[in-house]
Amino acid sequence: MSTRYEVLERQTERAAVKAHHSQALINGLAPDPREWEWDGTVTDAGPGAATAPDGPRCACGHPIRFVFPLTRSRDGATSRVGSTCITHYADIDPATTQAKQNKLAALQEEMKKREKQARQATEQAEVNAYRAEHERLYDLAEERYSWYAKRGIHAPRKLWEVARSNYYHVARVCCKKYVRAKSYVKWYKVQSELLREALREDEKVRSRGMGY
Ligand SMILES: [Zn+2]
Repeated sequence: MSTRYEVLERQTERAAVKAHHSQALINGLAPDPREWEWDGTVTDAGPGAATAPDGPRCACGHPIRFVFPLTRSRDGATSRVGSTCITHYADIDPATTQAKQNKLAALQEEMKKREKQARQATEQAEVNAYRAEHERLYDLAEERYSWYAKRGIHAPRKLWEVARSNYYHVARVCCKKYVRAKSYVKWYKVQSELLREALREDEKVRSRGMGY
């Protein structure tokens, strides 16, 4: 199953290919493909023509095997198209194509914006998860430290270091102003690890029956 976004993505891609092709034909039959007339004849350049490096080319730039000659009566100019472009070159209106291209550009811009928003949301969710875990550890360490403090007992050294000393500067909330989400994640990872270490040490002390 495709999401609406994936459908939009495919539509945009197809429209981009079409617009690119129409523009190539407009460029080849400039300024207006509708001015050109086919004389009703066709020449077969042979089976290898479409793959030959010096074989005939359509006005759109594609190598072709079947050559449909075109002429422009107002100045006698000549050109040619292949079996694909012969079916639609006369319907290509440069103004409409331009309008389509503008629409397409807007669509592509919109997609880029949506991609960016989705990426930012994912990153924000990741930061939030790290922050929630960090706050949990911070509160736990604080609770453990207070337990010792209330009883006038020295807390295990690492617990004291994260809870009261300025040595590690462990804070509950990151007060840094980072631009990238990655930097916040890194900050929380480092700080949470300090808290985990302190809580592990406290766990050991308690398991030896000290403290409690
Ligand atoms: Zn063509």
